[in-house]
Amino acid sequence: MQYKSTRGKVSGIGFIDAFLMGLANDGGLLVPEQIPTVSAETLNAWSKLSYQELTLAILDLYTNDEIPADDLKRMVNDSYATFRHPEVTPVTKLKDELYLLELFHGPTFAFKDIALQFMGQLYTYVARERNLPINILGATSGDTGASSIEGVRGKEGINICILHPHGKVSKVQELQMTTVTDSNVLNLSVHGNFDDCQRMIKDLFADLDFKAKHNLCAINSINIVRIIAQTVYYFYAYFRVQEASGASQVSFSVPSGNFGDIFAGYLAKRMGLPVDRLVIATNANNILERFVETGEYKPDNFRMTYSPSMDIQVASNFERYLYYVLGENAEAIESLMNGFRANGSLSVSADVLEKVRAEFGAYGVDNEACLETIKRYEASTGYLLDPHSACGVEAAEQRGQSGSVMISLATAHPAKFDEAVQLTGIKQEFPAQISSLFDKPQRQTIVDGETAAIVSELVKFYPAQA
Ligand SMILES: *Cc1c(COP(=O)(O)O)cnc(C)c1O
Repeated sequence: MQYKSTRGKVSGIGFIDAFLMGLANDGGLLVPEQIPTVSAETLNAWSKLSYQELTLAILDLYTNDEIPADDLKRMVNDSYATFRHPEVTPVTKLKDELYLLELFHGPTFAFKDIALQFMGQLYTYVARERNLPINILGATSGDTGASSIEGVRGKEGINICILHPHGKVSKVQELQMTTVTDSNVLNLSVHGNFDDCQRMIKDLFADLDFKAKHNLCAINSINIVRIIAQTVYYFYAYFRVQEASGASQVSFSVPSGNFGDIFAGYLAKRMGLPVDRLVIATNANNILERFVETGEYKPDNFRMTYSPSMDIQVASNFERYLYYVLGENAEAIESLMNGFRANGSLSVSADVLEKVRAEFGAYGVDNEACLETIKRYEASTGYLLDPHSACGVEAAEQRGQSGSVMISLATAHPAKFDEAVQLTGIKQEFPAQISSLFDKPQRQTIVDGETAAIVSELVKFYPAQA
């Protein structure tokens, strides 16, 4: 499998090179040259695999045999050995026709661990095999940072710098990032919001001299490997629900911010997974809901909500989806994205919008409805949803159609977002790994939200390449 850019000026890139490139060198996002498809027989055979085996089967379609099978197997097994549940991503039934896919059993209690534990292994492998210094640069709305730091802390040959919006992540998210004392970790707490952080790092990745000089690598969902690793649990969940209910088709509701997770669901569907609808669940930052309603994609005022990991207006991965819905027309994408940069909005035609609506539903859950959903499910089922997962469940109820079983993604553990849970009046016990964080000293550098300020911290931190 080779990879190409949504903007058409990069193609024929192998798996490891695509992993290292992160953002495509023409400013677009990398996608597979052809989406691999799986037959009904293959699906049937995959239905009996463990999570790790399924990951290997899917990676096999994407890695081009660039990594020896034994190495890949060891990396996958090591990635998921850190999870607290033997199934990695177990599925539980909430009520008739509604299942929950629990994605928070990894070391930092959010779904980002699934792809980022593997990417940490892969960076370590590539650093060693290619004898390359790896300098990871990423922006986080809270969970990507914690998870990617956990994946590479203390690893030789790898440095990691994470930008998070100052004061706009939950306490546990902040502690998970800033209590790490390994010298290869730099946390920049940036005055601004997540969109500012993401824009600045995209600018730095687009500066090809800077990127090459410092060997910059991406952990955000601009990296195609993250998307590929996230397709696995869509397959896994389908098989579990098929066993439990006999369903031959399912829908998914996905708490969304950067559109990475739900794009992985779209990719799984294009690979042949029998998916009916994909419901985009957002909070009050509902740019995606407005897009599905009107065909116009236009950021609105940024809002702080009880689900901070979804406090995102400009969804990076949306470009990948636009590319497919426009029939893989790179020129159209280039001009739409340039227009977006210049005017701050973009629109699609009525026929394109019709295609979008055939595949996606979208629903923005406001703060009040989010808390109400947490309370209602705790009272009726005893299950405590975190505020992101609650947006998913509420959107599933609002936009799910009867006729196909719904799987809603539980993207984080409630202990990560106790600020919101406390507002419901529900008391929760913290897992020991989380309560112990409160006693540790924190280390972070507070910086202005300007690219120049970030660059001056980076050049001190990354050993410059001669
Ligand atoms: C990152 C995150 C999301 C949003 O995922 P995207 O891939 O950015 O759409 C949802 N919930 C939680 C808990 C997250 O950490």
